[in-house]
Amino acid sequence: MNITQHEPQNNNEYRGVLIIGETERGNMHRVAYELLNKGRGIADACGENLSCLVLSTENSGCEELCKRGADQVYLMKSPVFAAPEEVLFASNITAFIREKKPAVVLIGATHFGRSLAPRIAAALETGLTADCTDLRIDEEGNLEQIRPAFSDNILAHIKTINRPQMATVRYKEFREALPDENADIRIQEIPPYIAEYPDVTIEKIISIGDMDITDAEVVVAGGRGIKRQEDLALLWELAQVLGGQVGVSRALVDAGMASSNIQIGYSGSRVKPKVYIACGISGAPQHLAGMKESDLIIAINNDPSAPIFAVSDYGFIGDLYEIVPRLTERFRKKGGCHEV
Ligand SMILES: Cc1cc2nc3c(=O)[nH]c(=O)nc-3n(C[C@H](O)[C@H](O)[C@H](O)COP(=O)(O)OP(=O)(O)OC[C@H]3O[C@@H](n4cnc5c(N)ncnc54)[C@H](O)[C@@H]3O)c2cc1C
Repeated sequence: MNITQHEPQNNNEYRGVLIIGETERGNMHRVAYELLNKGRGIADACGENLSCLVLSTENSGCEELCKRGADQVYLMKSPVFAAPEEVLFASNITAFIREKKPAVVLIGATHFGRSLAPRIAAALETGLTADCTDLRIDEEGNLEQIRPAFSDNILAHIKTINRPQMATVRYKEFREALPDENADIRIQEIPPYIAEYPDVTIEKIISIGDMDITDAEVVVAGGRGIKRQEDLALLWELAQVLGGQVGVSRALVDAGMASSNIQIGYSGSRVKPKVYIACGISGAPQHLAGMKESDLIIAINNDPSAPIFAVSDYGFIGDLYEIVPRLTERFRKKGGCHEV
């Protein structure tokens, strides 16, 4: 039997806050600005530096990261980062963290971030708290990672014994850090630690569409009231007329009718569009967790006692198969969402 004995970790060697700046097609994902806002507060509370690591083929808005609060940006620039390949990204970030030893590492809970963070935490043999809704420093200088647990019934306060203390934060959970045009710009370009990972080859990159559901201003969402996969076309037509995106409840993902990329809720994406139209969705707490912050909620449901009506600004009691096409027609005639 092999027993690996680890050296006891010296937590005092770990200092500062590191944010992973995710890029999408060369552009900085805005979750980085939200992490900078929270990260700045944590770094200041510890009297430490806030740095940001970006893996990209180009400069990808590193200056903006400095303006929004990063004391130092490390740009790991290489053509190998053209495709979002988790194993290669995670290996490089892990190697960077081993060298720089930040006490806190924050990653956006995007689709890519959710895939990266556990790989890095496992490689570093440290803890990871996913989908934090708040982060603060306790009186002993430890990171308190706060997130809902047990279907949102309690707020768990989690601390990590090891270093670094790692957490992911959902997009749109925190306010963005605002830019300061007079901020010092400190960007250091560094080569990748690992430039290829021969065990993984990317055969094809499939786009899930140009618009991320979390950025959509209008979301037309379908639930179990949609009986067949092809009926989702009704929602797409309405979304198209309103310049929006289609989302789904977990019921449709579990039924194999839609991809988890567009699932809204506790275990899916959180959205805050200007208009959210829930079609055939009952309004379970786990679904509401992902959309209740929307500016205007419209529900279509044939059950007048459905809980979704309790959070809706407007409600249609009736069959979505009748109501959705009529709404589509009405908005088409009026020329889109401006008439909502
Ligand atoms: C740990 C955990 C995490 C979860 N995460 C998520 C999550 O991220 N997102 C999520 O959505 N769920 C999540 N769930 C599941 C959640 O609890 C519900 O089961 C799910 O949201 C129900 O989806 P639904 O509203 O589409 O289906 P249902 O609850 O079955 O509701 C269907 C609604 O459609 C109405 N309807 C039926 N036919 C029509 C029609 N023709 N016209 C109009 N209305 C009609 C019905 O009246 C009903 O209100 C999670 C559950 C757990 C335990």
